[in-house]
Amino acid sequence: MSRTYDVIVIGLGGMGSAAAHHLSARGARVLGLEKFGPVHNRGSSHGGSRITRQSYFEDPAYVPLLLRAYELYEDLERGTGREVAVLSGGVMLGRPDSRTVSGSLRSARKWDLAHEMLDAGEIRRRFPTLTPRDDEVALYEEKAGLLRPEQTVAAHLQLATRQGADLRFEEPMSRWEPHGDGVRVYTAEGAYTAGQLVICPGAWAPRLLTDLGVAFTIERQVMYWFEPTGGVGPFLPESHPIYIWEDAAGVQVYGFPAIDGPGRGAKVAFFRKGEVTTPETIDRTVHEHEVRAMAEQVARCVPALPGTFLKAATCMYSNTADEHFVIARHPRHPGSTTVACGFSGHGFKFVPVVGEILADLALTGTTAHPIGLFDPARLATAPARGART
Ligand SMILES: Cc1cc2nc3c(=O)[nH]c(=O)nc-3n(C[C@H](O)[C@H](O)[C@H](O)COP(=O)(O)OP(=O)(O)OC[C@H]3O[C@@H](n4cnc5c(N)ncnc54)[C@H](O)[C@@H]3O)c2cc1C
Repeated sequence: MSRTYDVIVIGLGGMGSAAAHHLSARGARVLGLEKFGPVHNRGSSHGGSRITRQSYFEDPAYVPLLLRAYELYEDLERGTGREVAVLSGGVMLGRPDSRTVSGSLRSARKWDLAHEMLDAGEIRRRFPTLTPRDDEVALYEEKAGLLRPEQTVAAHLQLATRQGADLRFEEPMSRWEPHGDGVRVYTAEGAYTAGQLVICPGAWAPRLLTDLGVAFTIERQVMYWFEPTGGVGPFLPESHPIYIWEDAAGVQVYGFPAIDGPGRGAKVAFFRKGEVTTPETIDRTVHEHEVRAMAEQVARCVPALPGTFLKAATCMYSNTADEHFVIARHPRHPGSTTVACGFSGHGFKFVPVVGEILADLALTGTTAHPIGLFDPARLATAPARGART
C-alpha cells in the first residue's frame, strides 16, 4: 500500500499542535488526529494563562530550550498576528534556601541570565500587592511572564493548516501497529499509514503508551480566579508580575496579573497539590473547601487577591517520577515512533521548542537540542511521583 502521509501526529493539544506546525513547515505531509475539538478544555492546555520564565529552578539544563522557546513564541506571534505572550516580569519568592529561590538563582548564574535579587522590603516597595515575611527574598526576572495556552494551540493549528497539514478532530486513534518500516494507525473512520508516528498524548499517556516502560501519575489540578479586594487596578499586567511563592513548608503557589481586565479577576493556583486521577474519572467540580484552602494560602502573601471568588477550573498534570519530561524515539519502535509526554505540570513554556524537537526526531532521527534529561530509560523502573500506595 502506498503511504499517504509522511508523519501522523496523535493528539493536537499543546505539543502535538506545535509538532504539526514544525513538521508541515518543513514540507512533510502531516496527518493530525485529535480526540476532541480544536483548542478544547479536557486535557492540559487550557485556562487562559501559563507561566513562562528563564531562571529555571527545576534544572539549569532546561535553559537553552527556554531561550529557543522564547524565539519561537515570537515567531508564532509574528506568523499569526495573535498575542500569545505577555512578559509582565516575574517574582520567584521564598526563603533564600527554598527551591524556588535557590534553584532560580542557580540557573540565572549558570546561564548569565538578567535578574535582580530583592529583599523583603524591596519586594513590598516594588510590588505593593505582595507581602513577604521579613526572612523571604525574591529573584526578579524581567523576561518572565505568561503565555496564553488557547491562543498558542490555535496559532499552531492555524499555521499547520496553512502549510497543508490534514488535521482531523473528534477522531481519536484507537490503536496503532508497525507496518513495513512505518506505522498504521486505526480510528473509527478507517486506517492510515505513514513513515513516522509522533505521539503527544498528554494525560492519556498511561493508556496510549503502555509499552514505553514509564509510569505516569495523572494529577487533578485546580485553577482559581478571584476579584481582588479594591478591584484589579494594582493587578494589571503593566505593573504586576507573575509570581511563584514557596512557603516554609515547601508549598508553592503561583499567580498571574489580571490579564482579562475588571470583573474577570486574577488567576492563582497551587503548583503541586493534586489528587491522583484519570482523564475518564476526574472530578471536574471544584469544592468549597478547596476554594477556602486556596484563599487562605494566597492571602498570606497576596492579601488583597482573595476578595471575591469568581470561578475555578480543573486541569491535569502528567507526572513522571522525577518531574522531568519524556521526549525521545520510542525505545520499542525507534525507527518509526517518537513520543513527547510526562510534562509534569511545567511543559507549556516549552511547547514550540518541543514541536521543533519532535520534527527533528521524526524527520532526521536526531536533534541538536539538548534532550538527554528526557530519555525514558532513566525512568524504567521508578514509580511515578505523586503515586499513592
Ligand atoms: C492547571 C495547570 C497549570 C499549568 N501551569 C503551567 C505553567 O504555568 N507553565 C508551564 O510551562 N506549564 C504549565 N502547565 C503544564 C502544561 O500546560 C502542560 O505540560 C502542557 O499543556 C501539556 O501539553 P500536552 O500536549 O502534553 O497535553 P494536551 O495539551 O492535553 O494534549 C494531549 C492531547 O492528546 C489528545 N488525545 C489523547 N488521546 C488521544 C487519542 N487516542 N487520539 C487522538 N488524540 C488523543 C487529547 O485530547 C489532547 O488534546 C500547567 C498545567 C495545568 C493542568
